[in-house]
Amino acid sequence: MKGLAMLRIGEIGWIEKDKPEIGSRDALVKPLALAPCTSDIHTVWEGAIGDRHNLILGHEALGVVDEVGSEVKDFKPGDRVIVPAITPDWDDEAAQRGFSSQTTGPLGGWKFSNFKDGVFGEYFHVNLADANLAHLPEGMSLEAAVMIPDMLSTGFMGAENSNIPMGGTVAVLGIGPVGLSAIAGAKLQGAGKIFAVGTRPKAIEVAKEYGATDIISYKEGPTDEQILEATSGKGVDSVIIAGGGPDIILDAVRTAKAGSIVSNINYFGSGETLPICREGWGFGMADKDFATGLCPGGRVRMERLADIVSYGRMDPGLMATHVFHGFDKIEEALLLMKEKPRDLIKPVVII
Ligand code: NDP
Ligand code: ZN
Repeated sequence: MKGLAMLRIGEIGWIEKDKPEIGSRDALVKPLALAPCTSDIHTVWEGAIGDRHNLILGHEALGVVDEVGSEVKDFKPGDRVIVPAITPDWDDEAAQRGFSSQTTGPLGGWKFSNFKDGVFGEYFHVNLADANLAHLPEGMSLEAAVMIPDMLSTGFMGAENSNIPMGGTVAVLGIGPVGLSAIAGAKLQGAGKIFAVGTRPKAIEVAKEYGATDIISYKEGPTDEQILEATSGKGVDSVIIAGGGPDIILDAVRTAKAGSIVSNINYFGSGETLPICREGWGFGMADKDFATGLCPGGRVRMERLADIVSYGRMDPGLMATHVFHGFDKIEEALLLMKEKPRDLIKPVVII
């Protein structure tokens, strides 16, 4: 079978591999819709998680079940499914403690395009199919549904982890598809005022649609100063970091009020350490906490997110700005994600 792979740091290409073999509780799935992630860009072009050789990329997919193991109960060949980006080992001790994305080790629930071939292949393997697949609701648009496995799950986690008080003020730093999903999540969690920080025009339009009340351009002055000025020096109740480089942490901490949580969902792709501002952090005593997290995976999470879409709570399809048709187009879509033209939010490939 054919797949689009990371050949080595900085290089991608099409390769041939054997079809994956499945165990008794697993499934073999063919892609139905795919999307590249900014994380694929960090992985390939920044070498963020180290070198990988001939590893098929991609972790955002809808699929059609091709084959299931003998112990799989709820899925059969031909079923259309949502495939979570994160497919934990549900019997691992980290899952039992409530941290399923970290099973088998740090970030270990992230298998596709990390240490196992990803979804940009003609077939891909899903471990523990009954726990890691969800049925794709009948009639749901593929452009919308393909945002569920990673964009909605990650963005909403950013909002969930930031402990937003009902009516609280939230700052979302970065309005790519992850930050936009965080804005939608913050609104669903009861936020009052929502600051959205970013500059791409199409993203600004969708940010407003999803609930942003104030747009801040980080190019027109320091973000922290702009938000502090707009809040009469008080700052915000919750901050979600969804873009930028290491220094964005300084903006986040300075913008946060005492008692707030800085919820990071950004993937810092390079550098040995990350900064913190001594004064903004009250010399280490400011009652400003951090939360971090890797996108939640698994079936229940996917089913709940699908309900949010099915019941019209938000429309993730608005983020699909560039829609391609045909498996071969995944390379073009990935390169577009790398280039990030001004009118892009998220490219999607319908197979
Ligand atoms: P994008 O590159 O599409 O968006 C990044 C956003 O950050 C843009 O809006 C950009 O602004 C903004 N930005 C850049 N610099 C700054 C700055 N200095 N201050 C404020 N905003 C800034 O990324 P995605 O939305 O696709 O992904 C966001 C991050 O989330 C990535 O690092 C990705 O790898 C990570 N991620 C993490 C996951 C997890 O499990 N935790 C899962 C999936 C992704 P502009 O509008 O000007 O372009
Ligand atoms: Zn991702």
